[in-house]
Amino acid sequence: MFHSVNSKVNFPQVEENILNFWRNNNIFERSVESRRGGHRFVLYEGPPTANGSPGIHHVLSRVFKDIIPRYKAMKGYYTPRIAGWDTHGLPVELEVERELSFSGKAEIEEYGVDRFNARCRESVFGYLKEWEAMTERIAFWVDLDNAYITMKNEYIETVWWTIKQMWDKGLVYQGYRVTPHCPRCGTSLSSHEVALGYRDDTEDPSVYIKFKVVPSPISESEEQKRLYELSREKPTYLVAWTTTPWTLPGNTALAVAADAEYAVVELDNEYLILASARQEAVGLGETPVVARIKGSDLQDLVYKPLFNPHDFGVERQRFQRQSELVLQEPDDNLTYRVIAADFVSMEEGTGIVHVAPAFGEVDFEVGMHPDYCLDFVQPVDLQGNITGNYPFSGKFVKDADPLILDDLKMRGLLYRSEKIRHTYPFCWRCEAPLLYYAKQTWYIKTTAVKEGLITGNNEMNWYPEHIKHGRFGDWLENNVDWAFSRERYWGTPLNIWRCESCGHPECVGSVKGLQEKPGFTGLKEPLDLHRPFVDELTFDCPECGAKMRRVPEVIDCWFDSGAMPVAQWHYPFENDTLLEDGRFPADYICEAVDQTRGWFYSLHAISTLLFNRPCFRNVICLGHVLDAKGEKMSKTKGNVVEPWAVINKYGADALRWYFFVATQAGNVYRFDEKSVAEITRRFLLTLWNVYSFFVTYANIDRFTPGYEAVPLEPSELDKWIISELNQLIIDVDTALDGYNPTEAGRKIESFVNDLSNWYVRRSRRRFWKSENDADKQSAYTTLHECLVTLSKLLAPFTPFLAEELYQNLVGSVFPEAPDSVHLADFPVADVAKIDEQLATDTRLVMKVSSLGRAARSQAGIKVRQPLAHVVVSVAGSNEQRSLERLKPQILEELNVKDLRFIDSVTELDKPGYMVSSEGNCAVAIPTEISPELASEGMAREIVHRLQIMRRSAGFDIADYITTYYQGDDYACRVMVEFADYISQETLSHQLIEGMPGEGAFTESYKLGDHDILLGVKRLD
Ligand SMILES: [Zn+2]
Ligand SMILES: [Zn+2]
Repeated sequence: MFHSVNSKVNFPQVEENILNFWRNNNIFERSVESRRGGHRFVLYEGPPTANGSPGIHHVLSRVFKDIIPRYKAMKGYYTPRIAGWDTHGLPVELEVERELSFSGKAEIEEYGVDRFNARCRESVFGYLKEWEAMTERIAFWVDLDNAYITMKNEYIETVWWTIKQMWDKGLVYQGYRVTPHCPRCGTSLSSHEVALGYRDDTEDPSVYIKFKVVPSPISESEEQKRLYELSREKPTYLVAWTTTPWTLPGNTALAVAADAEYAVVELDNEYLILASARQEAVGLGETPVVARIKGSDLQDLVYKPLFNPHDFGVERQRFQRQSELVLQEPDDNLTYRVIAADFVSMEEGTGIVHVAPAFGEVDFEVGMHPDYCLDFVQPVDLQGNITGNYPFSGKFVKDADPLILDDLKMRGLLYRSEKIRHTYPFCWRCEAPLLYYAKQTWYIKTTAVKEGLITGNNEMNWYPEHIKHGRFGDWLENNVDWAFSRERYWGTPLNIWRCESCGHPECVGSVKGLQEKPGFTGLKEPLDLHRPFVDELTFDCPECGAKMRRVPEVIDCWFDSGAMPVAQWHYPFENDTLLEDGRFPADYICEAVDQTRGWFYSLHAISTLLFNRPCFRNVICLGHVLDAKGEKMSKTKGNVVEPWAVINKYGADALRWYFFVATQAGNVYRFDEKSVAEITRRFLLTLWNVYSFFVTYANIDRFTPGYEAVPLEPSELDKWIISELNQLIIDVDTALDGYNPTEAGRKIESFVNDLSNWYVRRSRRRFWKSENDADKQSAYTTLHECLVTLSKLLAPFTPFLAEELYQNLVGSVFPEAPDSVHLADFPVADVAKIDEQLATDTRLVMKVSSLGRAARSQAGIKVRQPLAHVVVSVAGSNEQRSLERLKPQILEELNVKDLRFIDSVTELDKPGYMVSSEGNCAVAIPTEISPELASEGMAREIVHRLQIMRRSAGFDIADYITTYYQGDDYACRVMVEFADYISQETLSHQLIEGMPGEGAFTESYKLGDHDILLGVKRLD
């Protein structure tokens, strides 16, 4: 006997029980250990930060990380899975700053780096319990007890070793470069971090600024002489465009395109110079032109700075050779020059570009170029505030914009001022606008291994595939060196020491290596490799004997997580065989698509730099989870979906199934609780109902699989569903092997739909017939096989429901079977049982049935009303044969006495028939009903009502009853005429005309034009 199953199921409750079973029986551990000796299958867990609650998007990536290893384990692979936690970096520091209400680095320094870092260390696992609970509840099977943690000394030591490998190859350097800088966090960001924070539709000023031409005694060309003459007549201005007015005090040059034509246009009191191609767009299309000159003739034209830095207490430096800057003497008559450059666009602005080498990568490159050697003026500090004594000094740059414009307007230097909406980068953590800022930063020369990055990518499988040469491939093609130092506190300290006296630098790759340095001092027990303790470790300079001190920077936390393939094993200090023993590379990783520039990239870059080979073979890239309207979830909008609420209401399986089948991996999810409800109803409850149906009837009939008393006689229906089942095994196996759970899940869903809506529905009477004959045994055996196989196919998808089915359908009858579905082998198809012809034939029967039902519905004739025949027209004799083979199914499904064929649908176009057709297939039913068929239809109606009443009265399916009836002559005649049929279908021991007996459950009905009162009473 199976455990009885309630058709009303509470999935969350079922799941809690299963969780207990797994926990008490160590099913996860055993599912790994029982496969020891099998081929290794490696998952790398992309480490989340546990200093906030897990969100719905974490559930998404975690269930995708779960499904593939579960499948592989059932296929016999040895798949230990290790959790990981990302514990360093800005996210953690910002959280602590918020707790302490700090607004910048000065307050941290004052508070003490040791105390600050101690709080960071505590905060990292603030939500660890919740993460662990969520991980268990959604059945993400991963070893949490032995998780790798990026802040451990061992982990840091491997990261140091990694950096040392790069240092020894000459791939680590410090450059004075423009980097994206977060003024709030006070640190540079890497280009992949910048890529995480772009916002469309940012409003900024769009302004046209006038730079006054100063006549110079020296001029290169006739045209230039003419220009200077003009400028003596009326003030003459070069017009340039910008969206960042705050960079204007840093202007030290204007750039033009040498080959472009420029126009000098005349206004009442002035001349303006701009590219001819931009006149129209700037609103100067109609203005008279007094001269047209080539860009190359504008070169070296001299103009007056908008703000002479010396007047405002700001230093002026100048590039000398590469990136070396030399301080310049004050100059009251300071002028700057026009340069010709190839980056000047005719698509926007005025064709004259404002150049400020202290801001902007291109500007800096131009400034330090030996052909130019421009001045360098930096009037903004690292907090993003204007320095010096400008009228707008002390303001944050974006707040200074309007004041700067007012100032220029007052001095007649503003030609036009508007607003623009464009894309601008913001800090991905704190949302401050990023500033492009020239300063010293440590780089890893990833561009040196660009070829390796690209060829390595060619060896990987990306799902969806377009990411490979699209988003990820493009990123690699446009590779720039990795700015990997951070001027912060809580991170892996950069392991470079520099001599205080002579500047000699050294990279130290291990703790032992450090301790063995001559003059090493400052070590405190217990060892902590974080700041400020690591800053105390000093040793003697091998060049001059002075003190070597660590540089102040820590490293990018993306470097930490990208080093996990080696750092999680403390390689090479321990586990030095991991490159040969199968633990490297990973077979599979999975994260959201933004990680193409985050973790996917940092993993690949570090692996290529270290070993010149990729560290993962297959990667699923998931789309983002948006709200139902397609908008990003955010706390401020209040549209964040709380995963616990969904799980507690629908269960984890429902959420898992939603994520697997709702859309192809890689697409965006528009998360709607209604969709989870819909999926529960459409799939989980459908399957549950089949399961509950099977158990209920099998228990009534005392069916035990494997102990059939009679030889089985599988019907066409049985053969068909078994054929479909074996085809399903192949399809699911193929799809999962190809990292496509969505395809696999949808196949299962379609099978369950056929199983419920065709196989079980068409077989109901076979289960119901009371004799225990071979046909009935076949039906039970077939349905049992389908459900057991489904439980195994579903185990990686919906591990709870799969376990529930398996425990009851296998565990309770086969004591020798594995005690969990997750210890079972993945099903193997029996190809001999796949009958493609039968599958095609049955599809056609389903189609004809569906058209027949449509015709009935159009004619307003219920399916319960028997009809004399159905007329069918199909594509040809093959299809006719198909329908002949399965004729009984059509007759029963459409409740008709006969099936007739015609050659053309036009023959049906006559009164007395209702036709429904699709493509080559047409089905017609007669609309006239004989009195005999009408009374048979009435009998069926009565049976249907009695069955409803049995349920309402709370009778068991197998209970025998007495039925009472009262009604008009016609109704009573039908009761008598069809007494045998009615009794059999309703398990009525007797049909009694007259008032229902005491304690009977009664209802009265109007069936057509006839009134009838019915009563049912259970037999004692
Ligand atoms: Zn920031
Ligand atoms: Zn030295």
